Amino acid sequence: MTGPSVLIIYTGGTIGMLRDPRSGVMRPMDLERLEEQVPELQSMGVRLDSVSFETPLDSSDIGPNDWLRIATMIGAHYARYDGFVVLHGSDTMAYTASALSFLLEGLGKPVVLTGSQLPIGSIRTDARENLITAVEIAAAHDDQGRPLVPEVAVYFEYRLYRGNRTVKVHAERFQAFRSPNWPELAEAGVHIRYDRAAILPHRDRPFKVHEKLDTGVGVLRLFPGIRSEWMDAMLGTERLEALVMTSFGSGNGPTDPQFLDALRRARARGISIINVTQCDGGRVEQGRYATSAAFNDLGVVPGADLTVEAALTKCMFLLGQGHRDEALSEGMRNPVAGELTLA
Ligand code: ASP
Repeated sequence: MTGPSVLIIYTGGTIGMLRDPRSGVMRPMDLERLEEQVPELQSMGVRLDSVSFETPLDSSDIGPNDWLRIATMIGAHYARYDGFVVLHGSDTMAYTASALSFLLEGLGKPVVLTGSQLPIGSIRTDARENLITAVEIAAAHDDQGRPLVPEVAVYFEYRLYRGNRTVKVHAERFQAFRSPNWPELAEAGVHIRYDRAAILPHRDRPFKVHEKLDTGVGVLRLFPGIRSEWMDAMLGTERLEALVMTSFGSGNGPTDPQFLDALRRARARGISIINVTQCDGGRVEQGRYATSAAFNDLGVVPGADLTVEAALTKCMFLLGQGHRDEALSEGMRNPVAGELTLA
């Protein structure tokens, strides 16, 4: 068959799950059974192949080694396909999408992650539309044959988002994702309408799959009443290199000296601290309020409008490249794959 080609990579998730009739628990099924459920895939005019994780996983069990595995799979098949669809559980999809956006340097083809809230076999499933449209987007190109979406994206419930800008916002609604700080890349109605200005431009950089992530990163959510012992316990974790601290509002935290001393002790041990907001949208402006001024003095890195997912995975990526201290701070402040907006 001529026409575009797309590789489906099946990692697991609700999209391919079946309910065990005896226990009632949902477990992943294999890829062939999943494809049987969507015969329309055969008549889309797209050459489709698929590969699968040996054991499909609930995305709560997917982590850095699996992100590397998916990136390597894409790398191994990169030349042979016009686009890639990654079927993935929605729970941690935003983390995987973020990680892939950093691992796939110079990406020039679509990598579209999708999944569903209901299994593909159930009557009211959202899986069918998500899968079919994700394939269509992964195969879409302009009149010069260039892919329309040369980046890692998430497609869910009629909307396409930049992967490293997404957050899962609902545990039940079909519209489970948002990208609070970046416009949607496309909306699927009768036509799929792409917002070209929101999509990353074609880049002439060589494609390269990075193969290292360093998991010496933690996330700490500030809360009113946070105690310094608690901070010390977390910041004293062995092999901790960096901490993503989710702060209040535009990057604020307590001015309690004990809290700040705990951060100071960690900084003295060489731990980098990245400040992102725990709000749903907006950005960190360190120093705007007195309650964030001390962070500047402590060398806390302002994380601009990064999501927690993007901040965490970008830290793992940069540490994996050997960046520490100043180099890590510099790397965190500059966009690699459209993950943050410069002020
Ligand atoms: N627990 C499932 C998963 O993330 C939920 C889903 O697929 O939406 O794998």
